[in-house]
Amino acid sequence: MFQIALDGPSGAGKSTLAKNLASYLQYVYVDTGALYRSIGLFVRRKDVDPSDPEAVAALLPEIRLELTYQDGAQHVLLCGEDVSGLIRTPEISMYASKVSAIPAVRAFLLSTQKEIAEKNNVIMDGRDIGTVILPNADVKIFLVCSPEAKARRRYAELVEKGVETTYEEVLAAMIERDRADSTRAAAPLIKAADAIELNNSEMEPEETFAAALNIIKERLS
Ligand code: C5P
Repeated sequence: MFQIALDGPSGAGKSTLAKNLASYLQYVYVDTGALYRSIGLFVRRKDVDPSDPEAVAALLPEIRLELTYQDGAQHVLLCGEDVSGLIRTPEISMYASKVSAIPAVRAFLLSTQKEIAEKNNVIMDGRDIGTVILPNADVKIFLVCSPEAKARRRYAELVEKGVETTYEEVLAAMIERDRADSTRAAAPLIKAADAIELNNSEMEPEETFAAALNIIKERLS
């Protein structure tokens, strides 16, 4: 089985890139953030503090997560319920970010992620895929982007959706989330020693795709 690990900070465009590569290469795309988000949703529904490691760990035995694929799109089943449409809210982003800093949560999701990669050719995106989940991945890409470029893209998306905000506000939130993700005690965002860094601050999505495909072809040839 071939394994492609795609890591990097939030907002760099990992999921768009991973989806495009998976459909081109006919690999299974695994969005690992969705697993953390689903745990965040479960914790929210139980009204438990997502920053409390013991309280969150106590809920884990009740949680059953499965990934299914419909028309190429990943769906997450949380105890049998398809929660894919419920986990993309800003509130659940915050819950996901908090629960993902809890070591018991990371340990809980380790086997789910490894099992999928054993059975399929995968492109998996996340934060610790190249370092922890698939340390022997065939290709590792670390996608980065300047906070300003990420904020510009995110701001444009929000304006399009009719959300009232300012570029400065979006930039501040972006910098804060990057800081939290790279300084947390459990699994801080670290580039694997053998990962190839791709900086797409000045690239359009098609250019990012072409650059990543080149890296993959070089590694696999
Ligand atoms: O990528 P996404 O924004 O969906 O991830 C949601 C949260 O889960 C992020 O805050 C990130 O810190 C966390 N995460 C993680 N490890 C992964 C994937 C996501 O800690 N492999």
